[in-house]
Amino acid sequence: MNISQAALASIALSALLYACSSAMPDAARQPGATSVERMYVIECGENHAKDLSIWTSPADKGKAYVFANHCYLIRHRAEWFLWDSGHPDMITSMPNGVTNPRGTLTVYMKKPLAESLKEIGVTPADIAHFAMSHSHGDHSGNARLFARSTIYMQAAEYEATYGPDPLKLGIPPANFESLREARIIKLNGDHDVFRDGSVVIKSTPGHTPGHQSLFVRLPKTGPVLLSGDFVHLTSNWQAKRVPSINYNAEQTIRSMNGMESFLQATGAILWINHDAEQSRAIPKAPAFVE
Ligand SMILES: [Zn+2]
Repeated sequence: MNISQAALASIALSALLYACSSAMPDAARQPGATSVERMYVIECGENHAKDLSIWTSPADKGKAYVFANHCYLIRHRAEWFLWDSGHPDMITSMPNGVTNPRGTLTVYMKKPLAESLKEIGVTPADIAHFAMSHSHGDHSGNARLFARSTIYMQAAEYEATYGPDPLKLGIPPANFESLREARIIKLNGDHDVFRDGSVVIKSTPGHTPGHQSLFVRLPKTGPVLLSGDFVHLTSNWQAKRVPSINYNAEQTIRSMNGMESFLQATGAILWINHDAEQSRAIPKAPAFVE
């Protein structure tokens, strides 16, 4: 690891100190009607927290927790859509992971995302569509691999990411340097990616200014909502609890309430990205879910 890589890792890690309705076409509501063939849930690192209470409540003071972290690769007809990009692949060469300066969090990446994609038979160049739930380092670590994809970002997240002080919001600017010339579609709300209701970006601000989640209609499993970090744990979801590190607590509650109504309306199940217990029950790549 050279100096610039070390700097990059440290910047990516600093983000973890902080982190870590538009009309739906009728087709989206019809059970079984989808153009999505399958989805791969890829292990994209782990966040080892020393004090879970930062994300939950004072009752968890001093309690350790290992957050799961995933990337999701979706096959839609003949195209690939990638959701989130995990921790930087270079962390795989660091057996002790990367610990933040305060020593409260250590992050690991066990297998490079590029290698996980290769096992599936996909290269970054094959990914036509790419979006991140938000710009924090555990979701944007490998964004640079997808500079040739069409990228979907909320305008508010774009402004936070390329604005004057991304680090203040826990966003590592180094992860986004190579995307400056990329084709980035700036969104102001929900977006039906393929215009058939099968893959829909949902605006869920609060954790960051332009946080977003992803609705995916799977052929056998049915509709699933991929949380991003609008909620971190099932216990937080049940208690409608907002982590102390969130950008805006009021927005977060509004997003949670909005998604609760959305889940009821669509019958979708909620897959919470960082929830380790829930993650254990979900098959991981190179296996896939249908
Ligand atoms: Zn996260």
